[in-house]
Amino acid sequence: MRILLLGGTAEGRELAGLLASAGHEVVTSVAGRTREAREAEGSRVGGFGGASGLADYLSDPATRVDAVVDATHPFAAQISWHAAQACAGGGLPLLRLSRPGWGSHPQAEEWTWVDDHRQAAVAAGLASGRVLLTVGRQPLPTYHALSDVLARVAEWLGGPVPAGWRILAARGPFDLAAERSLLAGEQITLLVSKDSGGDQTAAKLVAAHELGVAVVMVRRPASPEGVLEAPDVAGVLAWLARL
Ligand code: NAP
Repeated sequence: MRILLLGGTAEGRELAGLLASAGHEVVTSVAGRTREAREAEGSRVGGFGGASGLADYLSDPATRVDAVVDATHPFAAQISWHAAQACAGGGLPLLRLSRPGWGSHPQAEEWTWVDDHRQAAVAAGLASGRVLLTVGRQPLPTYHALSDVLARVAEWLGGPVPAGWRILAARGPFDLAAERSLLAGEQITLLVSKDSGGDQTAAKLVAAHELGVAVVMVRRPASPEGVLEAPDVAGVLAWLARL
């Protein structure tokens, strides 16, 4: 089977290898936002040109795609909506790999949940102390009014860094000891995170609880309706076996 795998995540990288070993022909597609994705993962790099561009790509006889697996990040909302539209229009099977969020985390009720980064920035601005931002690189400008910030990003490609800010480029997974040491050593009083879910970056939430660091959590954007979902790589493999 020939599969278009929309990637850019750890699960996407894992799936690409597993699907190829299972004998599938896989075209992994990444947006090309990070150097790692561009160099290590992508067999196809860059956008399709919206939902219609993706529909054109999928219906091109030269592409010959039998199924699409959307293994993009839970916060990569646009590409998932485009995939839903394009696959529905072209009658192609689509599965979204959606790792469970942190809504059922033991400490979830202690956190301040907000709908978007704008609200998170307002909530963080009302608190005093030092903020650890773990929201990725793209939303950082929304937080520029904050004055005492450590912003951890997987990759820093340069850009404006407001006074009172420091950028920490580090890629997970992060373990509990390292997160405790970061929060305590940097005297963090507030952690701002998005509900990425999964285990790779969850240790910060336990460390924050232990150290009395408040948490502001950005809810996930809405997923496209009517798209089948699997919580993990095993679920994707089982779906493909049934096709
Ligand atoms: P997005 O807002 O959903 O996508 C913006 C545009 O980038 C899409 O409309 C599409 O362009 C292109 N694009 C996104 N993912 C693509 C893919 N896998 N293959 C080809 N084109 C893609 O996504 P984003 O938040 O900018 O994230 C970009 C990529 O980084 C995603 O693939 C995601 O898996 C990965 N990532 C995102 C986050 C995050 O927090 N957002 C975190 C980790 C990794 P066209 O409309 O031109 O097709």
